[in-house]
Amino acid sequence: MAILTLIVLGLLLIAWWLYGDTFKQRYYRQKERPLDQNQRRQLAYDMPLYPRLPKAQRDKLDTLMRAFLSRVEFIGCDGLVVSDRMRYLVAAQACLLLIGRDEPAYPNVHSVYLFEGDFINKMPQYLPGGIVDTQGKHLAGESWGNGRVLLSWQGCLRSAAHPFDGENLIVHEFAHQLDQAKGLATGAPLQRSVPDAARWQQVFREAFIRHCEATFHGHRGLIDPYGATNPAEFFAVVSEVYFEQGLALSEQEPAMYELLEHFYGINTRLWH
Ligand SMILES: [Zn+2]
Repeated sequence: MAILTLIVLGLLLIAWWLYGDTFKQRYYRQKERPLDQNQRRQLAYDMPLYPRLPKAQRDKLDTLMRAFLSRVEFIGCDGLVVSDRMRYLVAAQACLLLIGRDEPAYPNVHSVYLFEGDFINKMPQYLPGGIVDTQGKHLAGESWGNGRVLLSWQGCLRSAAHPFDGENLIVHEFAHQLDQAKGLATGAPLQRSVPDAARWQQVFREAFIRHCEATFHGHRGLIDPYGATNPAEFFAVVSEVYFEQGLALSEQEPAMYELLEHFYGINTRLWH
């Protein structure tokens, strides 16, 4: 048995030695170079948060961006020509969610579809009462479970230009991707331990119910009413607030903020 294991390990080692580089080249379509000075200046202009990040976090973001850009294909839709400026801004905002986490840059995401503005989802929508809406819905972004993310470029620009208004399209869609990494988006992304997961369920369920009641009564607060759609949207919307208005969230929803800080691994209260 031990000999058989050794033979299998030996064969795997030989296969890696022979084909490892080909595999890596296929996984990473291109080797992304570090941003030059002009590209960095453009990114700082488009995303004012970028130069404000502590150096260690900015360095981590640069590394994640290069991995993301090496592997993810950008596809311009309805005639949009994708530029490096677009790729860098999307990658920087997407990887912002990972700068405090110890994991690769979205291994499940393989394509980003960029539209100039809002786009129409032509998939039929199944509404309450058995109504099927086939007119299509105007969207600024959408995250699919099969590794595809759809974004409006104008929406990306707007989100990045206002880093502290509590709304961020790219943070929203990539929070869904983190949630979808385990399968269906449920608003409860994978946690490091069972007690962490149990605490998440309890705190987020209570906060979601509070938010639904407030929204139903017409109260508009820190968290966008869209979060009342379902627990998955609630997590994505609250993630936007966590990254853009961390201090206010920690004051209003300390338990939820604490869980998000543990999950994302950064203290966003310090960014203001
Ligand atoms: Zn959403």
